[in-house]
Amino acid sequence: MNAPDMRRQSCLPLHRAEDFPILERPVRGKRLVYLDNGATTQKPEAVIEAERRFYRESNANIHRGVHWLSQHATDLYEQGRETVRRFLNAARAEEIVFTRGTTEAINLVAQSWGRANLKAGDEIVLTAMEHHSNIVPWQLLCAETGAELRVVPINDRGELDLDAYVALLNERTRLVAVAHVSNALGTVNPVQDIAARAKAVGALVLVDGAQAVAHMPVDVQAIGCDFYAFSAHKLYGPTGIGALYARWDVLRGMPPWQGGGDMIRTVSFEGSTWADPPQRFEAGTPNIAGVVGMAAAIDYVSAIGLERIAAHEHALLEYATEAVCKLPGVRLIGTAREKASILSFMVDGIHPHDRGTILDMEGIAIRAGHHCAMPVMKRFGIPGTARASFALYNDERDVEALVAGIRKAQAMFDGGAAR
Ligand code: PLP
Repeated sequence: MNAPDMRRQSCLPLHRAEDFPILERPVRGKRLVYLDNGATTQKPEAVIEAERRFYRESNANIHRGVHWLSQHATDLYEQGRETVRRFLNAARAEEIVFTRGTTEAINLVAQSWGRANLKAGDEIVLTAMEHHSNIVPWQLLCAETGAELRVVPINDRGELDLDAYVALLNERTRLVAVAHVSNALGTVNPVQDIAARAKAVGALVLVDGAQAVAHMPVDVQAIGCDFYAFSAHKLYGPTGIGALYARWDVLRGMPPWQGGGDMIRTVSFEGSTWADPPQRFEAGTPNIAGVVGMAAAIDYVSAIGLERIAAHEHALLEYATEAVCKLPGVRLIGTAREKASILSFMVDGIHPHDRGTILDMEGIAIRAGHHCAMPVMKRFGIPGTARASFALYNDERDVEALVAGIRKAQAMFDGGAAR
């Protein structure tokens, strides 16, 4: 079998058409080509049904009731924790804290661990390719504590400068916070290496896994990180739910960051005491149905296999990269050797927003703008990019539609310029 045939075979979709009902709906009278998976993924029936079933059959508040339904809902919620533990290969379920998503998980670490442990002169190392969610919480923390940010630069391909990273590390470095996969560039960072280097100077490591968990197997123990954050909605799960993995030795010493029901052991007006983690960090009634939906999403991708999903998306990314690069006036932003599922590009003479709008008229959903990564745009001297991002349900037809859409946009702008 020659190479193109092999590629064609591995680009076959991994799902059954009926799994994703939304992909069957037309948009603007055209077949929906959904390539905005970096922003959020579509949900399989299994997830939609799991949430529906929860509300139809199992709804009650958790951890508080003595009645059967409350016990049952609590069991489902805690089974969800075990599902996340297995998914990330955490050592114990208590290392998994449910949050609203990646953003809240990072803020939790900044506000709890950060406020308790950082002081003036300490350093936090970030990279130039972070999402705003992995920048702003640290800026807020620095403003409060007097700690300082250090930023690892990136090269023209959109890869971290690892020599510069090593040079930034020193005895003042308390935390290294890095994206596993860049949402603007698609770069897959060598997080295991990065963690090992940080450990050598005694720093903790937080990995922002928002763009990784849907695209590759993740093993937090193999990475050697202290914190790993992700959102269910980028993993075929519901919005408003996600998780923070925190290594037990670190988590058990962290103070609460939000107060309320469920996170306490005792409360009196003289003072209160805290529950053990993870409850210490889950104040108030959580998103119980969301946890059930997230677990269903993890079961769904696990049944297909993250290795298979990675291979499929890699083949698709290569196909798309080749096809888009053949178009005149198109330039990729982000050409790292290790990439996952994201194609960011510029088209000469067409603003990213106009590109997005013209593609939208064809039923093609992509993202245009700075992708909440303004420092990346500054690094490349551009206002924004157009970004196509792939999921397990995309195939070559979607890439071909994208290429045809870009051609159409170019023809419109060329025609406009000629008039
Ligand atoms: N980090 C990265 C790399 C992301 O791509 C995103 C979302 O796009 C986030 C963090 C924030 O995720 P959420 O909005 O789900 O909290």
